[in-house]
Amino acid sequence: MQTSISKLQEIDRKHILHPTTVPSVNAQEGPKIIFSRGEGVRVRDINEKNYIDGVSMLWNVNVGHGNEELASAAYEQMTAFAYGSQFYGFSNEPAIKLAEKLGEWAPGDLNNVFYTSGGSESNDTAFKLARFYWQKKGFTNKKIIISLTRGYHGVTVGAQRATGIEAFRDFSGSGDPNIYNAKAHLTNAEKGDTSDQNYASSVRSMIEELGSEQVAAVILEPIQGAGGVHMPPDGYLEAIRQLCDEKSVLMISDEIICGFGRTGKNFGVDHWGVIPDMICFAKGITSGYFPLGGVLMSDAIKSTIDQHEDVLAHGFTYSGHPSACAVGLKNLEILERENILENVISMEKVLTDGLKYLENKHKYVTKIRNKGLLAGFELMKDPENGIPFESPIQASSKLVEKCLSHHLIIRPFDFEEGMNIIAIAPPLIINEKEINEIIDI
Ligand code: PLP
Repeated sequence: MQTSISKLQEIDRKHILHPTTVPSVNAQEGPKIIFSRGEGVRVRDINEKNYIDGVSMLWNVNVGHGNEELASAAYEQMTAFAYGSQFYGFSNEPAIKLAEKLGEWAPGDLNNVFYTSGGSESNDTAFKLARFYWQKKGFTNKKIIISLTRGYHGVTVGAQRATGIEAFRDFSGSGDPNIYNAKAHLTNAEKGDTSDQNYASSVRSMIEELGSEQVAAVILEPIQGAGGVHMPPDGYLEAIRQLCDEKSVLMISDEIICGFGRTGKNFGVDHWGVIPDMICFAKGITSGYFPLGGVLMSDAIKSTIDQHEDVLAHGFTYSGHPSACAVGLKNLEILERENILENVISMEKVLTDGLKYLENKHKYVTKIRNKGLLAGFELMKDPENGIPFESPIQASSKLVEKCLSHHLIIRPFDFEEGMNIIAIAPPLIINEKEINEIIDI
């Protein structure tokens, strides 16, 4: 029996507490859109209204919606062996094959994986494994994790504290006390401070202040996503890599958005030839068709942890989920077979040209940036003189609402200090005509 649209609205409004949504609004008005179908870059709601998905939902539906090959991969695995754990020495074929494939995709010797079910779990896992690695090496005090202002790393207890966006970092007052947020802004680039060493210097002074004997790792996104799509200044990631080597600190790259072709390379760090000690991934590994994440780690970390002679007291029920891994494998096969990264590189130019057109045409559009299909721009009252809209005008949210009424989904970031940013990150299979449609709207 079909449930009516109004009934669905009512059940949602009354009984679902939505993530990253204003509760009082949802409790009164119910959900804005209830989706029912998707195909390519388009999604449809239960009222049969079509939208262009300009952000791949949550930057993750990389091969686009309605991909039957991914559905078939899930079906085949689920009918053969839907679920089995990796605890107690058990394993399964898709998890093993995917591990091998991930090693081919990853830079350097990051040939080893610990599977999770999502991004936050991956980052918390990386923090724990980093600390555990140092313990095994005899450095029991190396526990501190350093992250960057405006970094977004998720919402579990560790990932939350590593997140440098206050509302998330402080939510409900919980958090890991051994995680410090360096006042290192990738946005310093806009303040005319362009020396790569200067950006890295706030991380350096934090390590020196805390004492490198206490610091386990630095985590950063190669390009910050939910902090407002901030590109690292040239030389920044290289400087962090050098600093980590100098101070014996692990470098963790959070590639949860940037991984698997989003920026036109396998991983974000590949643009700068930097090899971190760990890579955290999720989202794009399955194009969002199945929850799956993980931590890739170097041979040195894996072989150190391999010496542990007791149970590794860390693991998720869904670590190495066979159906999720089968979808991940198929997703990587599609990315390779369809040369999707090449499409990202050619569409990068189309999107950048479109953003330049917007910047020239509209007084308030400024600071456009893009790498592959991870793009952003800002809205300012007077870009020429650097004057933002006064708070509490939520310029980005307003623009996004307007676009939604024209059937385009994009994402707003309105920060208290008057930063109004729009993110665009369409599915990687998008074509020129579809990008132009986004720009036209
Ligand atoms: N890290 C980054 C860079 C992200 O963008 C996100 C989610 O948007 C996360 C971590 C958290 O991932 P999840 O929501 O799967 O826990």
